Amino acid sequence: MKTTQPPRTVHRPATGRSPALDLRSLQKTHGKGRQAVTALHGIDHAIPSGSFTAVMGPSGSGKSTLLHCAAGLERPTSGSVTLAGQELSGLSERQLTLLRRDRIGFVFQDFHLVPALSVAANVALPLRLAGRRPDPHRLEELLSNVGLLEKRHRRPAELSGGQQQRAALARALVTHPEVVFADEPTGALDRTSGRDVLKLLRDAVDDLGTTVVMVTHDPQAAAWADEVVVLADGWLVDRLTGPDVTAETIAARMAALGV
Ligand code: ADP
Ligand code: MG
Repeated sequence: MKTTQPPRTVHRPATGRSPALDLRSLQKTHGKGRQAVTALHGIDHAIPSGSFTAVMGPSGSGKSTLLHCAAGLERPTSGSVTLAGQELSGLSERQLTLLRRDRIGFVFQDFHLVPALSVAANVALPLRLAGRRPDPHRLEELLSNVGLLEKRHRRPAELSGGQQQRAALARALVTHPEVVFADEPTGALDRTSGRDVLKLLRDAVDDLGTTVVMVTHDPQAAAWADEVVVLADGWLVDRLTGPDVTAETIAARMAALGV
């Protein structure tokens, strides 16, 4: 049987846990003067620890800016971001770098693997950069979880897009991050490979308690989340939770918003 919908039984209640990510009046203006573009107008949103959130909205609505501010890659113009209990504006660049390295994972649309390194070396890279020696058993287990144990000595260019993204996901998870940010992780993949990646993100949430925040254009991808938030012109204009998080309802809501 071909499954196009994720299982509906796995969602946990998003209450009673401290937020992994807390955005308060988050405002971001790119540039200055007449060139200034306000990408986020004042976002208030809390994301519970161990939940899966999809961020949707048209091109230019502020999704990437939101992810970058939330992950400490860009400084907000005003408002606050609290990530894993740390208010980011109080942190120095060095502290932000360490927070990103040790407590956050990233997955990008175009994988961002290092071409000259093997799959295993790519996955182990965040540990190496932190001066830690990868535990070979843990590395094997991770590679096996993403179905790449046999490909571990290959270079990224020898892998399919789906395999490369699964390697990138293993790399994002190798440090046991509290939050994984994924910007269109299935955008470059066919539906079957995309589904494999979404299942692995869902498993990270359900089995490891990881918090996942994923930008996507695809209602079928968003349906794997616990909550869908919709941005338009830098405003948070809609939220879907519980039984509303199905591909059909998400697609209908996006169409109603003209997205
Ligand atoms: P999305 O990811 O939803 O497509 P973005 O967050 O990339 O949206 O962009 C939101 C708005 O901010 C857009 O109008 C975009 O042109 C603008 N923007 C994003 N990054 C920059 C930047 N570095 N400098 C100037 N404008 C930017
Ligand atoms: Mg974007």
